Amino acid sequence: MRVRPRNFEFKRYIKPMSNPQANPQIAIPSRAPAATTADDTVMPFEVAKLDLRGRVVRLGPAVDEILARHAYPQPVAKLLGEALVLTAMLGSALKIDGRFILQTQSDGPVRMLVVDFTAPDKVRACARFDKDRVAAAVASGKTDGGALLGKGHLAMTIDQGPDMNRYQGLVALEGGSLEDVAHEYFLRSEQIPTRVRLAVAEELRAGSDGPTHRWRAGGIMLQFLPKAPERARVADLDPGDAPEGVEPHTVEEDDAWVEGQALISTVEDIELIDPSLSSERLVYRLFHEPGVRVFRASPLRAECSCSRDNVEAMLKSFSQDDRDHMVEDGKISVTCEFCSAHYQFAPGEVGASPS
Ligand SMILES: [Zn+2]
Repeated sequence: MRVRPRNFEFKRYIKPMSNPQANPQIAIPSRAPAATTADDTVMPFEVAKLDLRGRVVRLGPAVDEILARHAYPQPVAKLLGEALVLTAMLGSALKIDGRFILQTQSDGPVRMLVVDFTAPDKVRACARFDKDRVAAAVASGKTDGGALLGKGHLAMTIDQGPDMNRYQGLVALEGGSLEDVAHEYFLRSEQIPTRVRLAVAEELRAGSDGPTHRWRAGGIMLQFLPKAPERARVADLDPGDAPEGVEPHTVEEDDAWVEGQALISTVEDIELIDPSLSSERLVYRLFHEPGVRVFRASPLRAECSCSRDNVEAMLKSFSQDDRDHMVEDGKISVTCEFCSAHYQFAPGEVGASPS
């Protein structure tokens, strides 16, 4: 594989030379793909020959910590894991000082998913769902993401603090998977042809006290970013309700994007999760023919941003009446929905009247 990093990452790929002036013809650095994968990382890559850019996300301990802590029903955990991968993929690509929040609100058994990425590396996530409806979905085998979410919307918010504008992108949920929603969002809102693959699974290991479960997740995103914008035209998605006899809108897609989509469509779930297949080997497997350049992977970790101070400030922002109603057994208790951390306050601490 040929690796031709940008100037600012040059050092990472070549050994420092004792006297660079002695040899002005420094060869373009290239190396074999790394065999070891790093869990909880996002690795950007570029396939310059096809005008493609992308990212590979690998989540091990971070996704396991979040999903194991919540102990949601398995299909809910899996769906939240997919949302985590998607959020890590998108959030890590943004040059922001703040938070990127992905949130769904819909009428399916899973009413809400919230994943919160705080730059540069923190993620947290939680879900709200209807227990009986999830059980019914499991019983009838309708546990794909689209069926669990139902109809509603997905919002992506960039929050850079109280003094900055919030940016929000919205996309309708219409029974499709989170992958479909991501494609739709980039096509409609950003006019960027995009393909996303997301995978989540439980890994079983033989422990000394019986089998242990661990969640793993991964994903890959591919985007077509040609210099000439007219090359990025793609056909409209089939609206599904066109009157009979109406020709669907078709556009000849660019050969480079056709090839990119064909390559990413071959990615199997197991390839996105397997700890023995590194992110570099995966992109090499896919793109060795046109050639692929990888960039420094950035780390991610599961960490909540809640704190006693934040919760106290939040309680103080409620009305006196609301605070008074929160007092139970002489105290106010708050449990963080993301990390289950428990905070207790005496009524006087947050300006409530003792009951
Ligand atoms: Zn928390």
